[in-house]
Amino acid sequence: MALGTIPVHRTTTPRPRPPEDQLGFGKVFTDHMLTIEWTARDGWQDAKIVPYGPLALDPAASALHYGQMMFEGMKAFRGADGKVQLWRLMRHCQRMHDGAPRLCLPALPPEDMAEAVRALVKVDEDWVPSAPDSALYIRPTLVATEAFLGVRPAERVLFFIILSPVGAYYGAGALTPVKIFVERELTRAAPGGLGAVKAAANYAASLQAAVRAKKDGYAQVLWLDGVRHETLEEVGTMNLFVCIGDELVTPPLSDSILSGVTRDCVLTVAREWGLKVSERPLSISEVIAAHAAGNLAEVFGTGTAAVVSPVGELAVDGQRLVINDGKVGALSLRLYDEITGVQRGTRPDRHGWLTAL
Ligand SMILES: *Cc1c(COP(=O)(O)O)cnc(C)c1O
Repeated sequence: MALGTIPVHRTTTPRPRPPEDQLGFGKVFTDHMLTIEWTARDGWQDAKIVPYGPLALDPAASALHYGQMMFEGMKAFRGADGKVQLWRLMRHCQRMHDGAPRLCLPALPPEDMAEAVRALVKVDEDWVPSAPDSALYIRPTLVATEAFLGVRPAERVLFFIILSPVGAYYGAGALTPVKIFVERELTRAAPGGLGAVKAAANYAASLQAAVRAKKDGYAQVLWLDGVRHETLEEVGTMNLFVCIGDELVTPPLSDSILSGVTRDCVLTVAREWGLKVSERPLSISEVIAAHAAGNLAEVFGTGTAAVVSPVGELAVDGQRLVINDGKVGALSLRLYDEITGVQRGTRPDRHGWLTAL
């Protein structure tokens, strides 16, 4: 399928741009959104860009009852030269395409999804902020809209994209280490479950643990495997990296770990730097032992929103493991500077991770 020329129905009431120092994350949306309808009978059709606004959904829409929906999250950056570029566009489109079958959702061909993202970002191009560490966050979503309460894959689905200018994740631009609670009881994703897909349901499953952790002063939880609660999986909604001595370890991808694009960037860059990098299972006992031996050098999460999020302390079974004196580690900082530098165009893009609009 090729989308052809996507019609644009421009808003007659464009909104003022919010000040770039007050953007936050995901609070403000641009003037337009893109929608494409899918039916089992006719496939994808009617791609269009329309003014941003509420969706008309039948209250029986299956996503509202059975959670048949998923999303993506990627960014566009305004470079130092003023030009807007998309970050790892095809990889994000491919991931949504590959994940959709797990939820019995129709997969938009990655080339069409990329074309849709480009078309919408072009229309709202002047919403892309330029302040340091700001970006345009892009949220493509697939949602089952068929009005039917029987339990089976919906035969009517909506793909839409909304855009949100976002500010610096860490206020003043410096990375801030967070305290993390190691969750021994609740499970984010189980073997055979939805964990490897950006399914809305995974986020619903994660909220209670996050709320409990916040109440006790932690920013997020570290997720262990869903069977024995022993092997490390992810941290909050990010992939997890642990530096033990001179080895950088991240859990291998599985059906309960999301294949993060930032994870891939970190692995690629760290390997090029000649670091010892392992994708291997890592138990919480090994982390506790490494800390006791003085070898737990750094822990950090990776994801599109924050890029790198250092962990300054882990709370596990009533014990507090302070990491690197609660300060940002040298590797976390180096990775953050490198990846954000490529995103902004101040460092060379040797892998072709940026795509022009
Ligand atoms: C989106 C996501 C990540 C990070 O993926 P990126 O592509 O780097 O943004 C990690 N874990 C979970 C559970 C996620 O949903």
